[in-house]
Amino acid sequence: MSDKVAVDKATFNFGQWTVQANKSHILQSRCTQPLQCNVQNEGTPVDKSVLCDFCLYEKELELPQLPEMLFASNSLKLEHDNGFGIEFNALDALKLVDSKNDVMKVAVAEAWQESRVEDCKIKDVVKPFDWTYTTRYKGTLFGGTEIFKVTPTEERINVEKLKVKSKILFYQDIILFEDELADNGTAQLSVKMRIMPDSFLILLRFFLRVDNVLVRIIDTRIFHEIGKNYLLREHTAKENKIKDLQVSIALLNTPADLWDHLSTVSYENEKIEF
Ligand SMILES: [Zn+2]
Repeated sequence: MSDKVAVDKATFNFGQWTVQANKSHILQSRCTQPLQCNVQNEGTPVDKSVLCDFCLYEKELELPQLPEMLFASNSLKLEHDNGFGIEFNALDALKLVDSKNDVMKVAVAEAWQESRVEDCKIKDVVKPFDWTYTTRYKGTLFGGTEIFKVTPTEERINVEKLKVKSKILFYQDIILFEDELADNGTAQLSVKMRIMPDSFLILLRFFLRVDNVLVRIIDTRIFHEIGKNYLLREHTAKENKIKDLQVSIALLNTPADLWDHLSTVSYENEKIEF
């Protein structure tokens, strides 16, 4: 990125892979280098690489509003020695958010009518879009699609094996964005990674809670065992209306514990061969 944001970088080498975790501060709500960006914004073609993060997000996304807390320079990147890999960042995740339709409108109206919540700030949205920032993002593959062969698979991540206590060589927990839905809940996207002596696991999690309405968790798990020529990717969406859940309020704030209580809406299991 062209603006001089301070980024904390952590790298780790694991077999033929290099992992890089970047963490920085929240995206500013305005351009940080008007002189440089204005020239680019007015003229064509635009050289995106010289734009500041704010202008880059403005240009690349059609969303009328960005999440309150957007960590534009945060990312997790997994790169193979041969130059290909997978990356997780907020920009690519937000590209998959519906920028034209308020898909939650009906559910919210019904639930709030039932619970007699009269003051709803969310209704004040100027342009319709999915203000829950729900994204089916599964990570960004890079290095050429001809390198990867992505196919559906019956093979599952060995959850039992992951439960066995193993030494953790490297651990990262990176927030990509968060929004409090005008005090009506939370929407957050984060990515975690842990590397063990013979394998690694990545968990990209989108967590949404619209108070009195619903909870939704969309998880993408990526697992790799050393010596194998593929990654396993499991993408699962779960959700329930809050009125249908018999759980404590505390649980509604703890996605890791809530996960087992939710109904699966969709899932997709893939093998990414390289
Ligand atoms: Zn700018």
